[in-house]
Amino acid sequence: MSPGQPLPATPPPSAASASMRSNRHRDTAPELRLRRALHALGHRYRVSLPVQAGGVRVRPDIVFPRQRVAVFVDGCFWHCCALHGRRPADPTGYWTAKLDRNVERDRRVTSSLEAEGWRVVRIWEHEPVDEAVTFVAAALVTAPHRRPGQARAGSVPRRGQVTAGSCDGDGPGDGDGSRDRLVR
Ligand SMILES: [Zn+2]
Repeated sequence: MSPGQPLPATPPPSAASASMRSNRHRDTAPELRLRRALHALGHRYRVSLPVQAGGVRVRPDIVFPRQRVAVFVDGCFWHCCALHGRRPADPTGYWTAKLDRNVERDRRVTSSLEAEGWRVVRIWEHEPVDEAVTFVAAALVTAPHRRPGQARAGSVPRRGQVTAGSCDGDGPGDGDGSRDRLVR
């Protein structure tokens, strides 16, 4: 869902589509843009490849299996971007609970993957594609699982894990949005 797109006034019916339930909308425009840009640069990846991480089976949007890099392109609304993740009017508390669960699940998925040696790159749908490509490329360069012979001297140190904080605002200094995402 794009930022600013009107929301349904009421919760979706229980017959909501599987994609609605999973909140992972495949082949979104930002995801396609990123895939095209990566492909043009010679990167080869798998799309929505299932990955087992701990007891969790996840399908990152873009997967580099050999380098163990998993990329998620997160929708601003569903994943509570600090810039556009505005909460709808919510007298029943439905949306608050749902969106909180999404954020919690994102964190769980990220930490499960990282515990298995994956590098996780989360990119907001609002991010310019060239910046998104930079984040992914950086993760590929610093990926711990390289083929023998590909080790590089002076590899870039791993960035600290950045957590997104709650949807309700992360306090002063977090309004930038772009700093929240890199690799977390
Ligand atoms: Zn956003």
